[in-house]
Amino acid sequence: MKAVASVLPFRVNNYVVEDLIDWANIPDDPMYQLTFPQPEMLRLPDYARMLGLVRRGASKAEIKAAARRIQFTLNPHPAGQMELNVPRVGNTLAPGIQHKYRETVLFFPAAGQTCHSYCTYCFRWAQFVGIEELKFAGRESKVLADYLREHQEVTSVLITGGDPMVMKTKVLRRYIEPLLDPSLEHIASIRIGTKALAYWPYRFVTDDDADDLQRLFEQIRNAGKHIAIMGHYSHPRELETDVAQEAVRRVQSAGATVRCQAPLIKHVNDSADLWADMWRRQVRLGAVPYYMFVERDTGPKNYFEVPLTRAWEIFVDAYKQVSGLGRTVRGPSMSATPGKVLVSGVATVMGEEVLVLRFLQARNPDWVGRPFFAKYDPTATWLDDLEPAFGEAEFFFEEEHRELDDVRRQLEVVEIEGAAFA
Ligand SMILES: *Cc1c(COP(=O)(O)O)cnc(C)c1O
Ligand code: SF4
Repeated sequence: MKAVASVLPFRVNNYVVEDLIDWANIPDDPMYQLTFPQPEMLRLPDYARMLGLVRRGASKAEIKAAARRIQFTLNPHPAGQMELNVPRVGNTLAPGIQHKYRETVLFFPAAGQTCHSYCTYCFRWAQFVGIEELKFAGRESKVLADYLREHQEVTSVLITGGDPMVMKTKVLRRYIEPLLDPSLEHIASIRIGTKALAYWPYRFVTDDDADDLQRLFEQIRNAGKHIAIMGHYSHPRELETDVAQEAVRRVQSAGATVRCQAPLIKHVNDSADLWADMWRRQVRLGAVPYYMFVERDTGPKNYFEVPLTRAWEIFVDAYKQVSGLGRTVRGPSMSATPGKVLVSGVATVMGEEVLVLRFLQARNPDWVGRPFFAKYDPTATWLDDLEPAFGEAEFFFEEEHRELDDVRRQLEVVEIEGAAFA
């Protein structure tokens, strides 16, 4: 455990341990797999190296250095997160802001880059520890508001992390209030991506600033904007406890909507019946199923990955089982470098078996909605593994995508830490 946990993130709270994990069923229990690092999550030589160090009582520094080396091989910043899409305000780059799709700006507040518990499949290195949160928040929110004022095409701000709901309400308010200014009338919606509804629902119910959080949501509504809590739910069990359901009700009673999304993860939720059950529970609570993501090309991918064709089967088998109110969900979707790519299905076209794909979001908005085709490949787990069908040399967007990349190379590299599936 120690050997693995020095490489992979490990943090878990009482609620997850006592109310979500079924200890009669470990190690297979999905909530256990979701939060406790397993030896098999590391490649064997890496595991052996870490175990050796721990066994011979190596120094903390030595263990940390070895862990760092392994972490760098695990692609901690997938989909070009480090260098792509970091925008400028005037002439300076604006760290913490990611503007990839025209209508939506992603914002990573410095004070929200940790989580209540960590998911084993999410590669994240805690950073910004010990910062002066309020000071940071004031400075960052000004940069964000300035950026948005210069970008009238943006209608939605998605605050993400880590988990922004680790922040106290007063810190969160420091970020959000400037967005309610009349000069930002073009911002129609504010979203907060969070796993707290699942990992720490008390945040919305009994934490000492839970009531104040409701006031903040009401304030957003009264300013004429939509406020959506993008709840990361991986398993139906996360919706079963009384406090989890109460959290959803409280959020809704403050005028916010709850939309639900999660990646499809082997050992955790690779079952159609499980997703159907989860979507039905969400609909019952008045929450809206939103995205099923494909597990990203990061972290212990080999352990968690599900082939794209299998992901599509699971999606369709689950989708078939729910009413139209549950079919608001889209997926399986890959957040790849050129955009969010939906695996629409498998088809046979002119005798060739193909995967039908489509952009839900794209770095170039003109790519959105246009179907494209890849050779059928039951082992592919990511867009990069796929080849164009019908003897084409490349996918329709690739030439333009290279041109966008040339622009990127002129930008300096700025580090952004992102959630596993944002
Ligand atoms: C997913 C994502 C969004 C939000 O996309 P929606 O389709 O509006 O939910 C915005 N920016 C980035 C970089 C994303 O990955
Ligand atoms: S998936 Fe979200 S909640 Fe889980 S560790 Fe990553 S950022 Fe935190």
